[in-house]
Amino acid sequence: MSQGFQLVFVVIVIQQGFMALVWVLLARLRLARSASWHWCATSVLTALGIGAVLARPWLPPDWPAAVAWALPNILALAAFVMVHRGLVRFARLPSRDREHAATLGLGAAVIAVLPALDPGGRVWLSVATAITVLPIVRSAWTIRHGLAEEFGLVAVRCVAAAVLLLAGFFAFRTIATLVIGVPVLIERGGASNVVVALAYLTLGLVLNFTLGALVVMRLVFRLRHLSHHDPLTQLLNRRGLERALGQERQRQRRHGRPMALLALDLDHFKSINDRHGHGAGDQVLVQVGALLRAQCRGGDLAARTGGEEFVMLLPDTDLAGARQAAERLLQTLREHALTAGGERLSVTASIGVAVTEDPREELIGLWRRLDRALYRAKDQGRDRAVLAEGLSPSS
Ligand code: GH3
Ligand code: MG
Ligand code: MG
Repeated sequence: MSQGFQLVFVVIVIQQGFMALVWVLLARLRLARSASWHWCATSVLTALGIGAVLARPWLPPDWPAAVAWALPNILALAAFVMVHRGLVRFARLPSRDREHAATLGLGAAVIAVLPALDPGGRVWLSVATAITVLPIVRSAWTIRHGLAEEFGLVAVRCVAAAVLLLAGFFAFRTIATLVIGVPVLIERGGASNVVVALAYLTLGLVLNFTLGALVVMRLVFRLRHLSHHDPLTQLLNRRGLERALGQERQRQRRHGRPMALLALDLDHFKSINDRHGHGAGDQVLVQVGALLRAQCRGGDLAARTGGEEFVMLLPDTDLAGARQAAERLLQTLREHALTAGGERLSVTASIGVAVTEDPREELIGLWRRLDRALYRAKDQGRDRAVLAEGLSPSS
């Protein structure tokens, strides 16, 4: 074996060993735990496969070809099956145990048996390489179809394309082996095998980087969700609402449509806590949150902006529409029996309603008008909606 090959292969073994440690760390941090363990196995199997190639020149010459030739390829196949298994777990899809067992079992059998029938080894190597393409293509397919909803189409297309790069390399190698006649034993050298060795090194990095990017993307999406949502009701929190409001205002500037805000504060909520306990109060908040979500039409947003205070953002809604929506909400709350600790409670709310048609109106002024309308609803006896004064279309 040439010194150059040895060096590249030793670097790959170190690289994959290091990646295995990184995956252990990620699994222990509970970041995609099951997937991380599978991808750790991928790195270990790859390192073993490359190690088996490195060890080949020292094997006794009378060892069966199945061991000397086939073992590294079977380990590579197992490594890619592990990539797909990890992705299935990562995307929370139903398990594909039978598919994986069949791919590995049949694939390993073909890879192990063929050397005996193919003394030149060329057909054997192209078949062995072609078999590894299968789990790689399945992995790209799983990323594209299993994760598009979570990460968006552009992101999954990029990640799937990176994985398909691997499939492309193995497909090319399959054809090159048959047509050009790449030396079957990689350690025999030749310019084409230098390319193959360097490609292993690069693609090992690409694969781990791609899988790592998926884990990081999930973490970032989770953190973003947490920072914009209220953990009790799962509605938007104040920060999430302000972000959505900013976007809606930009849209309003472009299209010049009115937009309504409803600020809803539950009446005498403190007495619910005092009489039934804080836990019962929380149950009421969750149910009110669900009612608000159910009231949303397409494009509407509901947020919990404080203790027992909620805001609904209604795009493309004028004064008449906003008033109707507020009355409908009050009616729903009155009629809907909320329960806490098995007891039925009657819960009402006061609502301030503000509509803005003027995209130049400052948000701070809009909030102020909304707050004042809410205070007036409380002052006027609660369980009612009051329209904000000031810069509304009717003023
Ligand atoms: P009003 O009709 O004037 O709005 O009276 P209120 O009792 O609803 O209003 P007040 O501002 O006096 O009290 C709000 C209460 O909401 C006090 C606080 O204990 C309760 N609260 C705030 N956040 C939470 C929460 O997350 N869970 C529960 N259970 N209660 C909360
Ligand atoms: Mg309040
Ligand atoms: Mg209140």
